[in-house]
Amino acid sequence: MRWSNCYIPTLKEAPADAEVVSHKLLTRAGMVRKLTSGIYIYLPLGLKAIEKTAAIVREEMNRAGALELSMPMVQPADLWQESGRWEFYGKELLRFQDRNGRDYCLGPTHEEVITDLVRGEVRSYRQLPINLYQIQTKFRDEIRPRFGLMRGREFIMKDAYSFDRDEAGADKSYWAMYEAYQNVFKRLGLRFRAVEADSGSIGGSFSHEFMVLADTGEDTIAACTGCEYAANVERAEVAPPAVPATLPAVGAIEEVPTPGKHTVEEVCAFLGVPQSALVKTLILVADGKPVAALVRGDRELNDVKLKNLLKCDELELAAPELVQKVTGAPVGFAGPVGLNVERVFADHELLASDGWITGANKGDTHLRNVSLPRDAKIERYADLRVITPVDACPRCGQPIELTRGIEVGHVFKLGTKYSEPLKCTFLDEDGKEKVMVMGCYGIGVSRVVASCIEQNHDADGIVFPPPIAPFEAVLCCLDPKNGETLGKAEEFYAELKAQGVDVILDDRDERPGVKFKDADLVGMPLQLVVGGKGLARGIVEAKDRRTGEKTELPVEGFAEAFR
Ligand code: ATP
Ligand code: MG
Ligand code: MG
Ligand code: MG
Repeated sequence: MRWSNCYIPTLKEAPADAEVVSHKLLTRAGMVRKLTSGIYIYLPLGLKAIEKTAAIVREEMNRAGALELSMPMVQPADLWQESGRWEFYGKELLRFQDRNGRDYCLGPTHEEVITDLVRGEVRSYRQLPINLYQIQTKFRDEIRPRFGLMRGREFIMKDAYSFDRDEAGADKSYWAMYEAYQNVFKRLGLRFRAVEADSGSIGGSFSHEFMVLADTGEDTIAACTGCEYAANVERAEVAPPAVPATLPAVGAIEEVPTPGKHTVEEVCAFLGVPQSALVKTLILVADGKPVAALVRGDRELNDVKLKNLLKCDELELAAPELVQKVTGAPVGFAGPVGLNVERVFADHELLASDGWITGANKGDTHLRNVSLPRDAKIERYADLRVITPVDACPRCGQPIELTRGIEVGHVFKLGTKYSEPLKCTFLDEDGKEKVMVMGCYGIGVSRVVASCIEQNHDADGIVFPPPIAPFEAVLCCLDPKNGETLGKAEEFYAELKAQGVDVILDDRDERPGVKFKDADLVGMPLQLVVGGKGLARGIVEAKDRRTGEKTELPVEGFAEAFR
C-alpha cells in the first residue's frame, strides 16, 4: 500500500465529544469517522485493524472446533415473541415494520435466530455437540452511546452459540470457549483478566467476562489480593439475602449535611464509613432491610441488579416502590446522604476522579435526573445505614481491590433458557426427546480495537501491538521528489512485501516533520526511514515505535533482516 493512494485523513485535533483516548486517537489517526451518534464509518486503516483482530478471533474459534456462518441482521419479531424477549428487551432493541406492517428488529444478539436454525436442522444426538459462530455487525440502541468504538450503537461482534446433549457437554463447550478467549486476548497482546460475571437467573459460575484492564473502563472489577477470586462488582458476592444482626451500622442519620460541596472525606466522616466505601458498593438499609444498592460504574439502578446484588429472588419492585413498601414512607433513595444523585448514577466516576461530591438534597428537595426514582422526595433519613460488603473476599476473606475494566468478551452458559421456549430438542441415544443445553459467547471485535488503544498509546499517538497493527511497518521516503531516493525506497518496499512484511510506503510529497508525526500518530510498530543522507552512508534508519529506540540497518542485505 502506498500512503499517497490510501485514504488516511489524519487530524491535529480530536473531536469535541471525544472523552477517551481511543476515541480521540482513532479519529485523529484517520481510522474512523462518526456518521451519527454511536455509528461509525471504518476507514481503510481502521478496517484493517478490525480485520486483523477478527482474523485472530476466527483462527481461535476454528481451532476450538466452532463453525463459521453468517446470520441476517434483520430478525422477525415472532422469534423474539416466542422466546419472550420481544417484551423484555426494552429500548435497546431497534424495532421497525416492513411494508406489510410486520414487526422486525435489528439483531443485538442472535440466540433466537440460531436456536430457530438448529431446531429445524439438528434432530439426533449424533449431530451434537455443535458450536456455530459469526463475525458480524450488531445494533443496540444504547441509552448512552459514547467513547467512540467502545460503546457504539452499531458495532462488530463475534458471537458463538453451542448446543449440547446435556449439562456435562455444555460445561465442556463452555470451558473450551473460555480457553479460546484466553488465547485470543493473549495473542492480541492485551493486559486482561477473566472475571466472574453476573449470570442472572442461571446461577453458578458459568458466566465470565474478559476485562481489559484500563482506567477508562465502565466496569468495576473486584479482585482479591489473596487468591484468584475476581468478579464484576455487579456480580461480586456482596450481601446475604437478609441483613445480618452484625451489620456494621453507621447509626441513624438524622440530618442532611449542609447543602453545598463536600469532599469525599467529609461525607465519609459524616456517614462514619471508610472513604473507600463511596466508590465501592453501598447497600442502604432502612428499617433493618436492604432497600437499595449502588455500584460504582452503574449507570442505572434497576431491580435486576438489585436482586442480584442482594441475592434475593423475591424482590419484585424497583427501588423507589420497594423503599416505600419497606419503610412505609415515600422515601427515595439518594445514595449516601448529601450526594448529588445525578452524578452518583450517571457519572459517579467523577466522584473518584475529582474528589468532590455535590450535596444538593435537603429534606424536601427533589432529586433530579435520576433514572430511578425520578423526582422522588427524601423525607426521612433515620435508620438508613450503609454497609460496604465488597471489602473482603468471599472465598478467603482477604482484602478486595477494585480496578476498572473494559468488557471485551463474555462467555455464558445459557442452559435451556432459549432451547426450552423455542423447543429446540433432539432424539437422544435412549430414544427420548430432550432439550438441548446451550451456551453463548461474545467478543466485541470493534471494542477490542479501541481497548487496545486505551492500553497502548503515548503522547504522540497510537502504539499498536504488532498483531493488530494495520501495517507492521511504515517505510518513510523522506524525499520522494528525488528519483534516486524514491527508487531505493520502492526497491525496499518491494523486497519487504516479498518477505511477507505488511508495509505501507509513505511516498507523499510532504515535509519529513509531517511524515514523522503521522507515523507516530498511526502507530505502526516499526518505522523505516529512507533518506538521501542515510543512503549516502549506506543505511536505513529504523525506529521502534514503542521504545523510540533507533537503529541503523545497512542498505546491503536490508530486506534479508526481515526474513
Ligand atoms: P456492556 O456491559 O458493555 O453493555 P454487554 O454485557 O451488554 O456489554 P454482551 O451482550 O455480553 O455485551 O455482548 C458481548 C460483547 O459485545 C461484549 O462483551 C462487548 O465486548 C461487546 N459489546 C456489547 N455492547 C457493545 C457496544 N455497545 N459497543 C461495542 N461493543 C459492545
Ligand atoms: Mg450492554
Ligand atoms: Mg456487560
Ligand atoms: Mg456482557
